Amino acid sequence: MPDNLLMQPNHYRSLMAEPGSRAIMEKTIRFFENKGKTQLLEDFWNRVWYRDFLDFLKKEQIFAKLLTPAEYADGDPDCRWDTARNNEFSEILAFYGLGYWYCFQVSILGLGPIWMGDNEDAKRKAARLLKEGAIFAFGLSERDHGADIYSTETRLSPDGEGRWLANGEKYYIGNGNEAEMVSTFGKMDDGSGDYVFFVTNYRHKRYELKKNIVSHQEYVANFALHDYPITDDDILIRGSRAWDTALNTVNIGKFNIGPGSIGVVEHCFYEAINQASNRTLYGMHVSDMPHVQKGFLDAWLRLTAMKLYQRRATDYFRNASNEDRRYLLYNPTSKMKVTTQAEQVLMLLWNIIAAKGFERDTYFSMAASDIWGPSKLEGTVHVNVQLIRKFMMNYFFNPADYAEIKATLDARSDDYLFRQGPAKGLGKVRFHDFAPVFSRHSDLPNVGRFIEQLERFRSMLQEAPPNEIQDKDPSFALPVGEMFSVVVYAQLILEQASLDKLEAPIINQIFDFMVRDFAGFGLEIYGNPSAGEAQRDACRDIMCIRPLPNRNEADSIFQQYIRPLNGAYEMRP
Ligand SMILES: Cc1cc2nc3c(=O)[nH]c(=O)nc-3n(C[C@H](O)[C@H](O)[C@H](O)COP(=O)(O)OP(=O)(O)OC[C@H]3O[C@@H](n4cnc5c(N)ncnc54)[C@H](O)[C@@H]3O)c2cc1C
Repeated sequence: MPDNLLMQPNHYRSLMAEPGSRAIMEKTIRFFENKGKTQLLEDFWNRVWYRDFLDFLKKEQIFAKLLTPAEYADGDPDCRWDTARNNEFSEILAFYGLGYWYCFQVSILGLGPIWMGDNEDAKRKAARLLKEGAIFAFGLSERDHGADIYSTETRLSPDGEGRWLANGEKYYIGNGNEAEMVSTFGKMDDGSGDYVFFVTNYRHKRYELKKNIVSHQEYVANFALHDYPITDDDILIRGSRAWDTALNTVNIGKFNIGPGSIGVVEHCFYEAINQASNRTLYGMHVSDMPHVQKGFLDAWLRLTAMKLYQRRATDYFRNASNEDRRYLLYNPTSKMKVTTQAEQVLMLLWNIIAAKGFERDTYFSMAASDIWGPSKLEGTVHVNVQLIRKFMMNYFFNPADYAEIKATLDARSDDYLFRQGPAKGLGKVRFHDFAPVFSRHSDLPNVGRFIEQLERFRSMLQEAPPNEIQDKDPSFALPVGEMFSVVVYAQLILEQASLDKLEAPIINQIFDFMVRDFAGFGLEIYGNPSAGEAQRDACRDIMCIRPLPNRNEADSIFQQYIRPLNGAYEMRP
């Protein structure tokens, strides 16, 4: 695996087996490389709406192939909704700019309520529009309500003739300037109190496109509906299933964010290693300075871990069913860990290349402003940590038997995503035993250290679990949730490392930073004013466990995998 760990446009190796999917990836890379770095960055700095990109997508039928479930494919063998393929495509888009990725991301979200809904005509219309090169939007958020979607104000009121009039204002709606179908969330104003998803279109005169609320290439719309007429044809889904659809759509969308963050830092890595390896200070290459090598190593290992986690979590999502909802833990963990790890990777690299990262002809300068976005989309880090905490007790103390999930890269449509069912019942979701995969790697010293930490954490949860007050206080509950997330993250990393037969030294060095991160959360809880004595004792133990240094191992990874990346890739000018 490590030889193609970082996406390499010059010798691209797709995970996909069939030629149709490989062509999507290769053509997309060619589109951006032909556009060239100068134009890519000029368009970014001048906030140019990416018409050329949309024309390319239309010509090559790319969104049609990636975002039409096989059932509506009308015979096109390349059409399917395949999470592994969409993740790979997201990584490529973000490698060239998060703005391009965002257009894909919000189209995914916009299509969620359509494919999940009850309206067959709307589904056929979406399939046709995808073929015509349309983009889509998800109109959930409102300016005053943020994460609190219970408070949605947009209303559908009866017009007295069997139809409805939509009124309300939406904020932060990507593609809201050109989406042919905006899946808009509101409440029925007919006494039922039902939630509802209905379709609006930016061309309608009662759809007021107020402004782009960001100063970027992508369009994040504020739009208002003024007595916008809605008929049965426009209603996608009503009642409690509309509510579930909102959450289930976000379950899909949030899993597509990690690959975006991965793509961004991969491109940054190439720029950073090229810069540091060819810059001489005090008579030596910057890349020969020990702390610089350490920074690169840490960044590369974190990036490797991000990719391992995302790959394995994809298998669980693709194999999900009503009986196996483990993805409900693994998806938000991807969302909050992979995106925040990417922020850390960028910081490590930025400390190395320093002023260079500000120069407007670098991809880095663009990434440095964009990288903070992904962790805030589809629920903030806090919201996702609160969510995953709900699984913590079942994860640690109530494991269940499951057949082993195999690596899943086959060309099939992930149709379960559109029938996830009621969003409730999280407390009933059970997980396979986390311990065996750790035991299988326990001969690696840093995995061994990590096991010590996690056992201490587990015993703390058993003997001194958060009390009711601590549970309700996010300033205490969030670091506990973050600590839990490190264990889940580590588990899937090890599972994927086994599937990939990853070299032991790389796994051991990944667990060097995992142990340090675990200890960091220990310190946070230890210092929390409401931590009890037994909890402080446990956290003191956890934070005093340090990774076992192995200088030779770290050096050889740097020499074998990181140094050769110098000059391996530079975007065409
Ligand atoms: C660039 C961009 C694009 C977007 N695109 C879309 C889009 O296309 N469609 C769409 O519908 N929305 C979109 N959004 C909205 C996005 O989903 C919201 O930003 C998100 O729901 C959080 O809302 P908020 O940022 O207003 O934060 P708020 O909800 O106002 O949160 C404020 C603070 O409270 C914390 N908080 C909130 N709830 C909880 C909780 N339960 N537990 C613990 N802490 C909590 C948050 O973490 C945060 O620190 C976009 C946002 C941005 C910035």
